[in-house]
Amino acid sequence: MKLREELEGCKRIVVKVGSNVVTKKNGRCDIRKMRIIVEDICELIDSGFEVVLVSSGAVSVGKAFLKKMMPKKGKKVDLQQSASSIGQPKLINRYSQLFEDHQSICSQILLTHDDFRNRKRFLLAKQTIEVLLENKVTPILNENDSISFSEITVGDNDHLAASAAQMVDADVLLIVTSAEGLFDKDPLEKGAKLIKAVSFGDELTNIDMTSKTDVGRGGMESKIQAVNKVTPLGIKAIISSKDNDRIVIDPLTKGMGTIFDPEENFKPEQKKAWIISTKKFNCGVEVDKGAYDALMSGNSLFPRGISSCFGDFYQGDCVDILHEGKPFAIGITEYDHLDIDRIKDKHSDEIEEVLGYKNSIAVILTDNLVLLEDGRNE
Ligand code: GLU
Repeated sequence: MKLREELEGCKRIVVKVGSNVVTKKNGRCDIRKMRIIVEDICELIDSGFEVVLVSSGAVSVGKAFLKKMMPKKGKKVDLQQSASSIGQPKLINRYSQLFEDHQSICSQILLTHDDFRNRKRFLLAKQTIEVLLENKVTPILNENDSISFSEITVGDNDHLAASAAQMVDADVLLIVTSAEGLFDKDPLEKGAKLIKAVSFGDELTNIDMTSKTDVGRGGMESKIQAVNKVTPLGIKAIISSKDNDRIVIDPLTKGMGTIFDPEENFKPEQKKAWIISTKKFNCGVEVDKGAYDALMSGNSLFPRGISSCFGDFYQGDCVDILHEGKPFAIGITEYDHLDIDRIKDKHSDEIEEVLGYKNSIAVILTDNLVLLEDGRNE
């Protein structure tokens, strides 16, 4: 099998399929689509490629069995988590049968975002996947929803897929969704055009991706965020439609969907790649000019340089660092957001007095920092 020109030399592929791809409106598995996906993956493996599948659908499949208990308001989170615990074995059972129809084997790995943040667990999961790929087994990843701490939101698996792509050093991340790809405006509007290719660094800010219509941009924002997590790491990305005949193979071999070029020749060391790919979205700190200059010249971020922080984040999370509203770095925070609020504009010597403990003299240490602008901290 020959991949499309832009993917020449690519071997390791992470494929992400959403709930709307593998389940029907009534919540049942869409066996026809699942069969195509599995068939395509098996053909890719036979041609020497390595594939990791990230599949949603557990909540959707399991929900039907909880209907009687579903309250009108509130407690939605718990029900989603319970629904997922019913749906996940059903989903994986289907996959397992379909792979066996092709004399192939799949495996299940359920991860939480914390597993990516915890370096030890991250390395263990990576090792497991490497062994499976070596043995031509297809790992099927999903979020471990029933024990996930935070609310399950649509789009979580886009981020999980991006983190997985980085974890396994993938060459390509393929996100299969209900849209044909990225459009220059609402695809329901007249004259909307599919963007066939996006170069690294192309501004997409003028495209409104916030509306979540079923046709087209449903959740496109989180897909673009996922793409933006992997392209800086040299990983190519494609967003393509579930309605292609060969759902996985067509976008990889023909010019379908939107292809995103990665940054060329950027090979960050593993830890920094990990920081970028595990970044928590919409969380970060705004710093003043003094701190900006200090960080750009290789120093740590001290509390007194922080003017504000936003989002719910905790010690060990990877968060954005902004100056004048523009993100210029990502780093692992030593403190929770509420505590940063209490120590911002304080001297490091005062941390213990204010908080009653001290994790570090800095909020983000230079070793745990990646600069995104020129003069990148490599
Ligand atoms: N993990 C969820 C599921 O399997 C889906 C999350 C998402 O849609 O991104 O249903």
